Amino acid sequence: MFRGRFGFGGAVKNIVAWLGLLLMVASFVWWQVLSIPRPATSMRRTAAPAPFTLVVLDPGHGGQDSGAMCGAIYEKDLTFDIAQRVDRLLQTQGLATLMTRVGDSYVSLADRAAVTNRARDCIFVSIHFNEGKKVVGGVETYYAEHQAAPAPRLVSWIPFFQGPAAESPTLASQSLARFIQEAMVARTKAPDRGTKAEQFFVIANVGVPAVLVEAGFLSNKDDITKLESNDYREQMAAAISEGILRYRDVLKERQLPLAVTGAGTE
Ligand SMILES: [Zn+2]
Repeated sequence: MFRGRFGFGGAVKNIVAWLGLLLMVASFVWWQVLSIPRPATSMRRTAAPAPFTLVVLDPGHGGQDSGAMCGAIYEKDLTFDIAQRVDRLLQTQGLATLMTRVGDSYVSLADRAAVTNRARDCIFVSIHFNEGKKVVGGVETYYAEHQAAPAPRLVSWIPFFQGPAAESPTLASQSLARFIQEAMVARTKAPDRGTKAEQFFVIANVGVPAVLVEAGFLSNKDDITKLESNDYREQMAAAISEGILRYRDVLKERQLPLAVTGAGTE
């Protein structure tokens, strides 16, 4: 009996002590929250994606993986050539860049995605060339309709935190695809095959705005002839970099995705 009463009294003291502690913690947290200076941003502003600081350039294929071929012309060499040109152009505009492969080396698709997911505040631009029927030529840009949205790093090891909490960057990818596609068509006058949704591995498995550019058909005579010219490849690279910069400028103006026009879509 006595034990029980003492036990009850002890429990009450414990509860009071815990409540006191809780109150202290709560008031400390409240004070912390109140003391954080907040910039005067509207809801619309905070909802827009933040401008990026790094462009991950992904020259398709490499090493033993040649990609599409036309005689002695390999897709892997063309993608690397264009990526290097884009790389140089973006750097002269003050943008940081990262190439997923150096020289003619083989890098798996998973590694390309992993490098991108480890980088912060970046966008991903993969460069490829097409293959198809001989009569088909032109340029097209892909985005993924569903993209991996990695959970915040701190909780990523807890399985149930990997739900759809993080916002998917799909809309941003679609916008980036349109800007690059529009710039390529405007500059090179290549046939416009539009922007398209496709679950290509590298663009579907990164958690940042990501596109895959198909900058011509190696199965088409006209495209091949043009791509053999240094000047045409420089124009193509200039267009890709122009699209990226235009996308960044619009992000800075916080107009995405409203400012995107339908031109260039099928
Ligand atoms: Zn390819």
